[in-house]
Amino acid sequence: MSLKKIKKGELFESAYVPFSSPKNKKLERGFKFPALREVFKHEISEVEIFPTRNCSENCEGCSVPKVVRWGQERRMSVSWWQKFIQKTAEKGVKYIMIMGGEPTVFPGIEKIIKTIVECKVKGGIFTDGIPLRQNPKRLELLVQNGLLKMTIHSSVDYLVKKEPPLKMGKKVGTSRYHKSFYGLELLKALKAREAKGVVANTVLSPANLKQIIPLYQELERQGIKMTLCNYQWQCHLYQGRDPKLFTDKLVEKHIPQVREIIGFILRNEKKKIKKGKERTMANSSRFLRALPYLGIAQPVGCNNSSGPPGVFAVLPDGSLRHCPVITRLKDIPGCPGCHYGFRDRSPKLENYLAEMKVFNDPDRLDFPNIIHEI
Ligand code: SF4
Repeated sequence: MSLKKIKKGELFESAYVPFSSPKNKKLERGFKFPALREVFKHEISEVEIFPTRNCSENCEGCSVPKVVRWGQERRMSVSWWQKFIQKTAEKGVKYIMIMGGEPTVFPGIEKIIKTIVECKVKGGIFTDGIPLRQNPKRLELLVQNGLLKMTIHSSVDYLVKKEPPLKMGKKVGTSRYHKSFYGLELLKALKAREAKGVVANTVLSPANLKQIIPLYQELERQGIKMTLCNYQWQCHLYQGRDPKLFTDKLVEKHIPQVREIIGFILRNEKKKIKKGKERTMANSSRFLRALPYLGIAQPVGCNNSSGPPGVFAVLPDGSLRHCPVITRLKDIPGCPGCHYGFRDRSPKLENYLAEMKVFNDPDRLDFPNIIHEI
């Protein structure tokens, strides 16, 4: 598959992904979602559960189409999710991540949190912090049910110091800016309450490159962990999504600036490790080093020797996907690539980089991804 054609959105073929591909694409006859036993034929370390994909925001580069985000959805009951969590925990999944949409608006989410904690599986939740800011009682309910024992992730793409008006972020472009404030406020508040782990997830884009180092320094001051990644555009184009959704992505001309940012962060992390101080970055050093290159071109796909993803996703209607993007195993070899953070948490990225003989500098200081450990 030619990278130029992918960049222009001229794919030879695309994988149909229910609720993500454009509506004019139809399910082929006999389309089957993967069964759990099929997914577990591969080495699985993590599951991402999506009790809802509804969210009132409208962020640039969001991987959930508007029609899904703001539409009606078929949802499974809380007791279904509880049984599912118990079943996957028994199968040896190491980490269960609650994703969305915005999962804190799902009625009964506190019971799902409680089940993950009780199953003694490491758990995480990704929230934009806005509904919890609007409804502090709901935050208390989640805390009573074990929220502080999970890792709490929030999107913080900008360093926004002044509180913006608390309203739905319907505007693309201002949404990410708007929710960065609430995300950081939530992480600070939970950190003060001794949450097990708080992580700011930052998506690099041309619009926020100048803010990354000040943001990193602020998170370091606050004792909040940070992860960096880039928009995952290649795999979403493969789903048949509109290339216009990914116009704000990093391209070749941004490589020197991203290299400088990553260089600064790696040097600082290295100093901290040598002094025995806590790291701020939760990503592995290899992932960060790869970001200016493989993160921008995104060739680290499952069509290479790394094999199928070690993470699978469960959608609100209980259907399974072989990864958070691609549904069927047969579509995975055609996927042109992603550079998701979760691949950083699986040995597959490491193996891929080693096989490709990328970054073989013997003097560098390697550090692993620590999301599963915080
Ligand atoms: S994990 Fe693999 S199949 Fe899924 S989006 Fe990434 S490259 Fe594609």
